[in-house]
Amino acid sequence: MTDETLLDRALIRLEEAASHLQIDQDVIEKLKYPRETTKTRLLIRMDDGSRKSFLAWRCRYDDTRGPTKGGIRFHPDSNIEEVETLAFWMTFKCAVMNLPYGGGKGAVRVDPRTLSKTELERLSRAYMQAFATTVGPDRDIPAPDVYTNAMIMGWMADEYNQITGSVTPAVITGKPIALGGSLGRNDATARGGFYLVRHLASELGLARDHTVAIQGFGNAGQFYAQLTAADGNKVVAVSDSAGAIHKADGLDVAKLIAGKSSGKRVTDLAAELGATVIPADDLIAVEADLLVPAALEEMITIDNAGSIKAKVVLELANGPVTAEADKVLTKNGVVVLPDILANAGGVTVSYFEWVQNRQGFYWDLEEIHARLKKMMEREGRAVWNIAKERDVSARSAAYIHALGRLATAIEAHGTQPFFAG
Ligand code: GLU
Repeated sequence: MTDETLLDRALIRLEEAASHLQIDQDVIEKLKYPRETTKTRLLIRMDDGSRKSFLAWRCRYDDTRGPTKGGIRFHPDSNIEEVETLAFWMTFKCAVMNLPYGGGKGAVRVDPRTLSKTELERLSRAYMQAFATTVGPDRDIPAPDVYTNAMIMGWMADEYNQITGSVTPAVITGKPIALGGSLGRNDATARGGFYLVRHLASELGLARDHTVAIQGFGNAGQFYAQLTAADGNKVVAVSDSAGAIHKADGLDVAKLIAGKSSGKRVTDLAAELGATVIPADDLIAVEADLLVPAALEEMITIDNAGSIKAKVVLELANGPVTAEADKVLTKNGVVVLPDILANAGGVTVSYFEWVQNRQGFYWDLEEIHARLKKMMEREGRAVWNIAKERDVSARSAAYIHALGRLATAIEAHGTQPFFAG
């Protein structure tokens, strides 16, 4: 148990899905290990003239179905094992959505909140300098993730263009609109989850005016709150890294987001919103129909899963529920809409951005939303049907759905030489 890594725990889901399919062992062998992970140290000049170095990684986990795709995270706890696991999840996420991509991920071990804007720009540019030959519009396409955003993607795209002497917007997605970013990319993760919940609402037993608790109030959490409140549902609790607040008859989401944007923590806003401050750990246990983990990995574990009162969990974060916690939730009749489907709206609109960059022709917001909705509903329905037909959890169904596509592609590639490409 002590030597078990995050990736080992993630692979439990692969093995479980494989047990439902007639899959060649070669396929599993290929998917058990990342194809390539590069580690480097980024040495940058700080504003005070000193130099500081930061560990950085980029993992291209599997590229059988297309160029590797996945975000870059800036986080003080980032490590290689997390990067590789996130890249494994991207491989399955892209396959669930039938995007022509494999999976990748990158990270820098840094707390970006301790950097000035100019230091952050130098760090972002240094990342692209280090990985300029790893990435590419037909090779590996980064995007935002935890604590990275459009501004950072813009700096990285610019650095790539300077290095290559070209203008290649399709090398990275989640860019500012002015640099070839797509409309609708900013709220895409939340919107994809929102379309999914709305599409499956009656099967999930969620009424039109259900209550929602959101763990993590960053990009995905804030946009989900906005979308669900505008649709007539009540956001009754939210948390960020500093704490949680609760209000049974619903929080004023517009005020909450305005307060967050002005740099406040959710707990700073409790009095103004008439809410109660509760321990952050209690958020998952509040009375709500839908629980939305939108923070980091392994927040719901065997120790706290039993306290969840929600009927449905929508995983907007990557890997928020451990495999052991999954068993508790299944036993208690809680339906989990798994990360590789639930938060796939982000990478799906990233795909739209890449397509628009390559064709040099840009879509309006209406078209982006219509295409996203159609894809979330199509793949969501397919996963739901597999779950019903095989009497398995939605998570197992999503893995079965993705693994079927991955296996077909891996077998079509042939095995000689196994890692060529
Ligand atoms: N970081 C997001 C994710 O985990 C988006 C990745 C992308 O757009 O490539 O899905």
